[in-house]
Amino acid sequence: MKALLNRARTFKRRVDFESGEYSKLAEGQYPEALFITCSDSRVIPALITGARPGEIFELRNAGNIVPPYGSPGVSGEAATIEYALEVLGVQDVIVCGHSHCGAMGALKSGDDLSALPGVDAWLQLARPELAPVLTTASDDPSLPDVAQGNVVNQLAVLRTYPVVRQRLDEGRLRLHGWYYEVDTGQVHELEGDGLFRVHTG
Ligand SMILES: [Zn+2]
Repeated sequence: MKALLNRARTFKRRVDFESGEYSKLAEGQYPEALFITCSDSRVIPALITGARPGEIFELRNAGNIVPPYGSPGVSGEAATIEYALEVLGVQDVIVCGHSHCGAMGALKSGDDLSALPGVDAWLQLARPELAPVLTTASDDPSLPDVAQGNVVNQLAVLRTYPVVRQRLDEGRLRLHGWYYEVDTGQVHELEGDGLFRVHTG
Protein backbone atom coordinates (compact mmCIF):
# COMPACT_ATOMS: atom_id res chain seq x y z
CA MET A 1 0.00 0.00 0.00
CA LYS A 2 2.90 2.34 0.74
CA ALA A 3 3.98 2.43 -2.90
CA LEU A 4 0.43 3.13 -4.04
CA LEU A 5 0.12 5.94 -1.52
CA ASN A 6 3.43 7.47 -2.52
CA ARG A 7 2.47 7.44 -6.17
CA ALA A 8 -0.89 9.04 -5.34
CA ARG A 9 0.83 11.76 -3.33
CA THR A 10 3.13 12.61 -6.21
CA PHE A 11 0.57 12.13 -8.98
CA LYS A 12 -0.15 15.83 -9.31
CA ARG A 13 3.49 16.44 -10.16
CA ARG A 14 3.21 14.07 -13.09
CA VAL A 15 -0.11 15.61 -14.11
CA ASP A 16 1.48 19.04 -14.22
CA PHE A 17 3.43 17.91 -17.26
CA GLU A 18 0.16 17.37 -19.03
CA SER A 19 -1.76 20.22 -17.44
CA GLY A 20 -3.39 21.26 -20.70
CA GLU A 21 -4.99 17.88 -21.09
CA TYR A 22 -6.06 17.64 -17.46
CA SER A 23 -7.39 21.18 -17.05
CA LYS A 24 -9.69 20.60 -20.04
CA LEU A 25 -11.32 17.77 -18.07
CA ALA A 26 -12.99 20.38 -15.84
CA GLU A 27 -15.20 21.36 -18.78
CA GLY A 28 -16.95 17.99 -18.80
CA GLN A 29 -16.65 14.42 -19.94
CA TYR A 30 -17.39 13.06 -23.39
CA PRO A 31 -16.44 9.38 -23.16
CA GLU A 32 -16.52 7.35 -26.34
CA ALA A 33 -17.58 4.11 -24.73
CA LEU A 34 -19.08 2.45 -21.69
CA PHE A 35 -16.69 -0.32 -20.66
CA ILE A 36 -18.28 -3.04 -18.54
CA THR A 37 -15.76 -5.42 -17.06
CA CYS A 38 -14.75 -7.41 -14.01
CA SER A 39 -13.28 -5.81 -10.89
CA ASP A 40 -10.23 -8.03 -11.33
CA SER A 41 -7.05 -6.06 -10.70
CA ARG A 42 -5.36 -7.55 -13.75
CA VAL A 43 -7.86 -6.00 -16.14
CA ILE A 44 -7.09 -2.33 -16.76
CA PRO A 45 -9.39 -0.88 -19.44
CA ALA A 46 -7.28 2.24 -19.97
CA LEU A 47 -4.16 0.14 -20.39
CA ILE A 48 -5.81 -2.22 -22.86
CA THR A 49 -7.39 0.50 -24.99
CA GLY A 50 -4.83 3.25 -24.48
CA ALA A 51 -7.67 5.48 -23.28
CA ARG A 52 -6.82 8.84 -21.78
CA PRO A 53 -8.80 10.42 -18.91
CA GLY A 54 -12.30 11.22 -20.15
CA GLU A 55 -12.37 8.64 -22.92
CA ILE A 56 -14.07 5.64 -21.31
CA PHE A 57 -16.83 5.37 -18.74
CA GLU A 58 -16.35 2.27 -16.61
CA LEU A 59 -18.71 -0.12 -14.91
CA ARG A 60 -16.97 -2.82 -12.96
CA ASN A 61 -18.11 -5.63 -10.69
CA ALA A 62 -17.26 -9.24 -9.94
CA GLY A 63 -17.82 -11.18 -13.17
CA ASN A 64 -18.86 -8.22 -15.36
CA ILE A 65 -22.49 -9.02 -14.69
CA VAL A 66 -25.42 -6.91 -15.86
CA PRO A 67 -28.35 -7.51 -13.48
CA PRO A 68 -31.61 -8.33 -15.27
CA TYR A 69 -33.57 -5.16 -16.03
CA GLY A 70 -35.98 -4.30 -13.25
CA SER A 71 -34.18 -6.38 -10.61
CA PRO A 72 -35.52 -5.37 -7.20
CA GLY A 73 -33.51 -2.92 -5.15
CA VAL A 74 -31.19 -0.10 -6.03
CA SER A 75 -28.76 -1.02 -8.79
CA GLY A 76 -25.52 0.81 -9.39
CA GLU A 77 -25.29 -1.05 -12.68
CA ALA A 78 -28.68 0.17 -13.92
CA ALA A 79 -27.83 3.73 -12.84
CA THR A 80 -24.46 3.66 -14.56
CA ILE A 81 -25.86 2.26 -17.82
CA GLU A 82 -28.69 4.80 -17.81
CA TYR A 83 -26.36 7.72 -17.12
CA ALA A 84 -23.84 6.65 -19.77
CA LEU A 85 -26.49 6.39 -22.48
CA GLU A 86 -29.04 9.06 -21.54
CA VAL A 87 -26.76 11.77 -20.22
CA LEU A 88 -23.35 11.16 -21.74
CA GLY A 89 -24.72 9.89 -25.05
CA VAL A 90 -22.26 7.03 -25.25
CA GLN A 91 -22.74 5.14 -28.52
CA ASP A 92 -20.60 2.06 -27.89
CA VAL A 93 -20.83 -0.41 -25.02
CA ILE A 94 -18.17 -3.04 -24.46
CA VAL A 95 -18.73 -6.02 -22.19
CA CYS A 96 -15.29 -7.46 -21.50
CA GLY A 97 -14.78 -10.79 -19.79
CA HIS A 98 -11.35 -12.13 -19.03
CA SER A 99 -9.24 -15.23 -18.55
CA HIS A 100 -8.50 -16.64 -15.09
CA CYS A 101 -11.65 -15.00 -13.69
CA GLY A 102 -12.36 -16.03 -10.10
CA ALA A 103 -16.06 -15.24 -10.40
CA MET A 104 -16.44 -17.37 -13.53
CA GLY A 105 -14.38 -20.12 -11.90
CA ALA A 106 -16.73 -20.20 -8.93
CA LEU A 107 -19.75 -20.26 -11.22
CA LYS A 108 -18.29 -23.05 -13.35
CA SER A 109 -17.36 -25.28 -10.46
CA GLY A 110 -20.47 -24.57 -8.41
CA ASP A 111 -18.28 -23.80 -5.40
CA ASP A 112 -19.93 -23.65 -1.99
CA LEU A 113 -20.05 -19.91 -1.37
CA SER A 114 -22.01 -20.01 1.87
CA ALA A 115 -19.13 -18.22 3.62
CA LEU A 116 -19.40 -15.45 1.01
CA PRO A 117 -23.11 -14.64 0.96
CA GLY A 118 -22.60 -11.39 -0.94
CA VAL A 119 -20.65 -13.08 -3.71
CA ASP A 120 -23.06 -15.99 -3.76
CA ALA A 121 -26.11 -13.75 -4.18
CA TRP A 122 -24.36 -11.68 -6.84
CA LEU A 123 -23.27 -14.66 -8.95
CA GLN A 124 -26.82 -15.99 -8.84
CA LEU A 125 -27.65 -13.14 -11.20
CA ALA A 126 -25.41 -14.67 -13.85
CA ARG A 127 -26.38 -18.29 -13.24
CA PRO A 128 -29.71 -18.46 -15.10
CA GLU A 129 -28.22 -16.66 -18.08
CA LEU A 130 -25.19 -18.93 -18.02
CA ALA A 131 -27.27 -22.08 -18.09
CA PRO A 132 -27.44 -22.38 -21.89
CA VAL A 133 -23.68 -22.12 -22.16
CA LEU A 134 -23.05 -24.56 -19.36
CA THR A 135 -25.43 -27.15 -20.74
CA THR A 136 -25.00 -26.95 -24.51
CA ALA A 137 -21.31 -26.26 -25.07
CA SER A 138 -20.21 -29.45 -23.34
CA ASP A 139 -20.66 -31.26 -20.07
CA ASP A 140 -17.48 -29.73 -18.80
CA PRO A 141 -16.96 -26.35 -20.48
CA SER A 142 -13.55 -24.76 -20.13
CA LEU A 143 -13.16 -21.62 -18.08
CA PRO A 144 -12.67 -19.54 -21.26
CA ASP A 145 -15.92 -21.04 -22.62
CA VAL A 146 -17.76 -20.01 -19.48
CA ALA A 147 -16.24 -16.52 -19.40
CA GLN A 148 -16.97 -15.96 -23.11
CA GLY A 149 -20.46 -17.39 -22.75
CA ASN A 150 -21.01 -15.00 -19.88
CA VAL A 151 -20.09 -12.06 -22.12
CA VAL A 152 -22.65 -13.22 -24.69
CA ASN A 153 -25.27 -13.61 -21.98
CA GLN A 154 -24.60 -10.26 -20.35
CA LEU A 155 -24.91 -8.58 -23.76
CA ALA A 156 -28.29 -10.29 -24.08
CA VAL A 157 -29.32 -8.96 -20.67
CA LEU A 158 -28.15 -5.50 -21.67
CA ARG A 159 -30.45 -5.61 -24.70
CA THR A 160 -33.45 -6.00 -22.37
CA TYR A 161 -32.83 -2.52 -20.91
CA PRO A 162 -35.30 -0.14 -22.61
CA VAL A 163 -32.64 2.56 -22.91
CA VAL A 164 -30.39 0.09 -24.74
CA ARG A 165 -33.09 -1.45 -26.91
CA GLN A 166 -34.40 1.90 -28.05
CA ARG A 167 -30.98 3.10 -29.12
CA LEU A 168 -30.20 -0.16 -30.88
CA ASP A 169 -33.48 0.11 -32.79
CA GLU A 170 -32.60 3.65 -33.79
CA GLY A 171 -29.08 2.70 -34.85
CA ARG A 172 -27.55 4.96 -32.21
CA LEU A 173 -25.78 2.26 -30.23
CA ARG A 174 -23.36 -0.58 -30.88
CA LEU A 175 -22.67 -3.44 -28.47
CA HIS A 176 -19.30 -5.20 -28.37
CA GLY A 177 -18.18 -8.38 -26.64
CA TRP A 178 -14.54 -8.79 -25.72
CA TYR A 179 -12.55 -11.45 -23.93
CA TYR A 180 -9.18 -10.40 -22.55
CA GLU A 181 -6.35 -12.77 -21.68
CA VAL A 182 -4.61 -11.42 -18.60
CA ASP A 183 -1.46 -13.47 -19.19
CA THR A 184 -0.93 -12.59 -22.86
CA GLY A 185 -2.69 -9.25 -23.29
CA GLN A 186 -4.65 -10.65 -26.23
CA VAL A 187 -8.13 -9.26 -26.90
CA HIS A 188 -10.66 -11.57 -28.53
CA GLU A 189 -13.65 -9.92 -30.21
CA LEU A 190 -17.12 -11.41 -30.43
CA GLU A 191 -18.30 -11.64 -34.02
CA GLY A 192 -21.69 -12.02 -35.65
CA ASP A 193 -21.46 -15.81 -35.70
CA GLY A 194 -21.16 -15.92 -31.91
CA LEU A 195 -17.45 -16.79 -31.91
CA PHE A 196 -14.61 -14.81 -30.40
CA ARG A 197 -11.68 -14.05 -32.67
CA VAL A 198 -8.37 -12.26 -32.35
CA HIS A 199 -7.66 -9.38 -34.71
CA THR A 200 -4.13 -8.19 -34.81
CA GLY A 201 -4.96 -4.95 -36.60
ZN1 LIG B 1 -13.07 -11.62 -13.17
